[in-house]
Amino acid sequence: MSNPKIRYFDYAAATPMDPRVKAAMQPYFSDNYYNPSATYLLARSVKKDLEAARAAIAELLGAQRTEIIFTAGGTEANNLAVQGILRRFPGSNVVVSALEHESDLCPAELFEHRIALVLPSGIVDVGKLLKSIDDQTVLVSIMYANNEVGTVQPVKAIAQELEVIRRKRQAAGNKLPLYFHTDATQAAAYLDLHVSRLGVDLMTLNGGKIYGSKQSGLLFCSSSVNLLPLIFGGGQERNIRSGTENVAGAVGLAAALTLVQDRRHDESLRLRQLQELFVELLKKDLPTAIVNGSLRQRLPNNLHITIPGQDNERLLLELEAGGILAAAGSACSASNEEPSHVLRAMGLPDETARASLRFTTGFYTAEEDIRELVRLLREVTLKRED
Ligand code: PLP
Repeated sequence: MSNPKIRYFDYAAATPMDPRVKAAMQPYFSDNYYNPSATYLLARSVKKDLEAARAAIAELLGAQRTEIIFTAGGTEANNLAVQGILRRFPGSNVVVSALEHESDLCPAELFEHRIALVLPSGIVDVGKLLKSIDDQTVLVSIMYANNEVGTVQPVKAIAQELEVIRRKRQAAGNKLPLYFHTDATQAAAYLDLHVSRLGVDLMTLNGGKIYGSKQSGLLFCSSSVNLLPLIFGGGQERNIRSGTENVAGAVGLAAALTLVQDRRHDESLRLRQLQELFVELLKKDLPTAIVNGSLRQRLPNNLHITIPGQDNERLLLELEAGGILAAAGSACSASNEEPSHVLRAMGLPDETARASLRFTTGFYTAEEDIRELVRLLREVTLKRED
């Protein structure tokens, strides 16, 4: 990484852009700056590149080209999914989990909504989720992996249950659809993204978390879903998302997604070993630390811990002074004064939440970084206990 003095443990908040992604994007800032909707040959060539990026992404997801809608990041894609469907069906409702990112929860709160509870392990309680679905539910939105505690949700199992409900509805003559959306922002570098294997109708992806650029992203939207646009104008993106296309962003997103999906098995294995080392060192050197959320159903790059009696804001400052950058919760919300809604949903008291830290690893994390992290954590924790 560019700054050798820094050990970075906040990959869930932002990833450095991969040089290959940067190289793929660069021409569209200078030589190939043309508006893809223009008619001359040079512009048509840019349009062709945009469509090639769309086709490459569609292939990775097992989707049709026309099912990929480019957006300015994950927040917009989540809003488009939730608002785009709920506004289409007045009087309907949406079910979201208590773990969702604010960009999914907040739009859901604009409509009739139900919050599906989660288990203390940080996994959605599927039984309770199914009970909260009624005849008017048109959308269920459950994230693929959580951004704070890294827990991986049973997306495939939920998709299968929803299919059963759809069939019952059909038999009863209920014509309302029941769509399934997943926010795969944090999962994209580690998990299978094939939409029909997952059984999802809509899926959010976010370039800024996979070594691409911030404000690049997409919503996969199955051709069976009739979405109402959020942004009206020139009719780009098949009239669903107007605005001159961010060609550099789309090309970069295709490059980033290809990169992370190509190496997801190897990288998952490598980071899983670092995660295990982290847990092992904690047990030895900082035995009071508690890991929050399931270790088994978890992304390989996340470790979220509570160190009882400690204040996470102070710990973060002391870690930073020692060259380590980490997070107290989600950096994705601008106001994080309140204890995390995710930890609350898992049943952690606010006091425990305030003694919790999130460490997320990535491409540039090495074993030595984990060893230094635990060494410094122990040092700053003991200092407080003295
Ligand atoms: N969804 C999840 C799971 C996230 O972690 C984030 C941001 O961290 C977002 C959505 C929103 O992404 P952005 O702020 O890049 O739009």
